[in-house]
Amino acid sequence: MICDRKSVQKTKFDAGNFWNMNNMENIRIIAFDADDTLWENENFYLETEMKFCELMSGFMPVKKVREELLKTEIANIGIYGYGAKSFILSMIETAIRISESKVDAKTIQMIIKTGRDLINMPVKLLDGVESTLMNLQKKYKLVLATKGDLLDQERKLRNSGLAQYFSHVEVMSNKRKSDYVQLIQKLGVMPHEFLMVGNTVKSDIIPVIEAGGKAVHIPFHITWEHEQADSSVTEFIKIEKIMDLVSL
Ligand SMILES: [Mg+2]
Repeated sequence: MICDRKSVQKTKFDAGNFWNMNNMENIRIIAFDADDTLWENENFYLETEMKFCELMSGFMPVKKVREELLKTEIANIGIYGYGAKSFILSMIETAIRISESKVDAKTIQMIIKTGRDLINMPVKLLDGVESTLMNLQKKYKLVLATKGDLLDQERKLRNSGLAQYFSHVEVMSNKRKSDYVQLIQKLGVMPHEFLMVGNTVKSDIIPVIEAGGKAVHIPFHITWEHEQADSSVTEFIKIEKIMDLVSL
């Protein structure tokens, strides 16, 4: 996955404005994105992508390999969805295409191995996640709302030790406005009683606001290029650390 290494702009958080501007007192459910909101993810994908680029360097310059891989990934989202298995298939497909079918079975085997290593990466919680969830669950119903491969996300949740804090887990095939409308209905609350917390403006923030919910953005230092937002929606709060949710 190609990342944007530009540093993310952070706004200074103002709790007073937060309450006035966003009328958050009605919130009953707080939903959390998982990857790069609760635990590290994108850096593992980036490492895997670099290994793939090395394996393919005999066929194409690294920059071009990354572009080709991203193109394949985006084209495959509608077929395979998000997550590690889809990523592995996209690497193999890209290898065959850019080598004009000359890539050997041993290299394909190594690509599959790097993909398996990605799936087996340890779950590394981000700072303050567990204490924040522990605190918030006293007052709110907490939900995990993540995109990706079902088995992979279930495994990560199990290994994270965080499952106990969530009263509902939703592994979503996509995070569009309609997906959030469905989720909010399923949870039995009104949209304005639903708050989403996540690292991706395009998936965790904009569609939630469009669905009538509230959203808090916690940027992670890298974001997959396909998840870069190009919208001018600004009616959401940006905080630097997950712990800032508690101080509200
Ligand atoms: Mg995320």
